[in-house]
Amino acid sequence: MFDAISKGFKNAKNRLAGLEELTEQNIETALREVRLSLLEADVELSVVKAFLARVKEKALGETVRVRAKGTDGSTVKVRAGDVFTKICHDELVAFMSADGESIRFADAGPTGIMMVGLQGSGKTTSSAKFARFLQKDLKKKPLLVAADMQRPAAVEQLMVLGKSIGVPVFNIPGASPVEICSKARDEAKAKGCDVIIYDTAGRLAIDDALMEELAAIKTNVAPQNIFLVVDAMIGQDAVKVSKGFHDRLDLTGVILTKLDGDARGGAALSVREVTGAPVRYVGMGEGTDKFEEFRPDGMASRVLG
Ligand code: GDP
Repeated sequence: MFDAISKGFKNAKNRLAGLEELTEQNIETALREVRLSLLEADVELSVVKAFLARVKEKALGETVRVRAKGTDGSTVKVRAGDVFTKICHDELVAFMSADGESIRFADAGPTGIMMVGLQGSGKTTSSAKFARFLQKDLKKKPLLVAADMQRPAAVEQLMVLGKSIGVPVFNIPGASPVEICSKARDEAKAKGCDVIIYDTAGRLAIDDALMEELAAIKTNVAPQNIFLVVDAMIGQDAVKVSKGFHDRLDLTGVILTKLDGDARGGAALSVREVTGAPVRYVGMGEGTDKFEEFRPDGMASRVLG
């Protein structure tokens, strides 16, 4: 999915092929290739600018360092393409990395994980994937809470998914999402569950009613984690969406879905830089096992091709 971006980095490297020195001029030429491909891949303009500025600064720093080495009369030769690519790799990683743990666990009582996002982003699927991940990889006992009363099929969908992975699903027919979420804690205690995943309602666009409902759930259940589910296919819009949710809910992380598709990949690079909320997990397919912890290093390598 990173074909466009990878092409830009490869073109940049080709421009520097055979050159034994990084100069301001050849750095500019290489950066132009990268810039074009990042924009083509739907990376936010502000993110493109910030990224290029950092790569340029590092690359220029490298020319100074190499020159300083050569002052004793020896000739210092570098493979300009490799040096440039290494700088890009490191900066890509820096752009996507975040400190701290991906999940915050509660000191006492069940840990809350609230899932939010626009309709169709993959929220319900990701809730089930997350539950499976917690169960299999972290040996937890999750409870899924079906609180998406907006999309008629969402409750049934979660019930089916929960059954397929052997995770209980809680819902109170006819109750409000806030009520359902508030009562889930008792259910978790009764069932011996140590993590509660709240699948909340999405809308087709951010609106006040949605945000108020989510804010009310947040206040009521005080979850340790709020993950925004973002569809990687929606490109630059993904970033604006993330910012809207983050401003209102103070997200702890982002789950980027549909990375198996033919999205151009811009969202993966932009989200953390624009919102401050890092990508923590990625969805790589429709199956409940297609869920992975996000690895900036692996992603940077994929991007560089
Ligand atoms: P919600 O409205 O946000 O709850 O979205 P759903 O969980 O129902 O997902 C919407 C569609 O996207 C469904 O057809 C899912 O199977 C699909 N989907 C979700 N995550 C992924 C993913 O990582 N890769 C692919 N290819 N499809 C996904």
